Amino acid sequence: MSSQIPACLVVLGRQGSGKGTQSLLLCEKFGLVHVSTGDLLREAAESNSPLGLRVKLVMDSGELVSDDTMCEILAERVAQADVQTRGVLLDGFPRTVVQAERLADIVEQVHGVINLDVPIAEVTKRMLLRNRADDTEESIARRLALYEEQTEPLLSWYEDASIVKTVDGLGSEDEVFKRLATAVEEIFDASQVSLRVLLKQEKS
Ligand code: ADP
Repeated sequence: MSSQIPACLVVLGRQGSGKGTQSLLLCEKFGLVHVSTGDLLREAAESNSPLGLRVKLVMDSGELVSDDTMCEILAERVAQADVQTRGVLLDGFPRTVVQAERLADIVEQVHGVINLDVPIAEVTKRMLLRNRADDTEESIARRLALYEEQTEPLLSWYEDASIVKTVDGLGSEDEVFKRLATAVEEIFDASQVSLRVLLKQEKS
């Protein structure tokens, strides 16, 4: 059963694009619930349940969790009261066309899709600089290739629905945030999501 939630935004962007940080800032500004599938899966993996152990194996291998498992976990999260009353920003979902199709059954409407655009050369440089243990040149290249193969096709899938806004992700965090906030306002204007309603809910 799909549910009508006040707002549903999807943010797409390569690893290293600043998607996670900017998503959090957007949620703060617009009163949306931040749902990061990376965080959800890490939480599941820590639980030591059979599902958690399966998720952990897949994540450690750098592959994607199966669409069935991912959609089940996501649908459960979206059904919770905070998302139902405040609306949601999805960070990391959908990541495949199958997931995008399933999302259409989970929520009544996707109001907008933001494509935070940072070229491959730049994200590679950023990820190498942050020096994390899982950020070797080889694993970065593999994760980015997976993005091009599985997630990039989502852009044309959604572009058919003409709700995609591409935002230039180069520049300071502040500059990029301003561009993103403008894009969200345009999306809400176009789909007549009342920002006042969202902001009021956030305060109550
Ligand atoms: P990254 O984008 O750098 O891989 P995330 O924190 O977004 O980092 O995700 C961590 C891992 O969780 C991914 O490598 C993948 O295994 C899994 N994952 C996250 N989102 C999804 C999704 N929508 N579908 C399948 N697997 C996912």
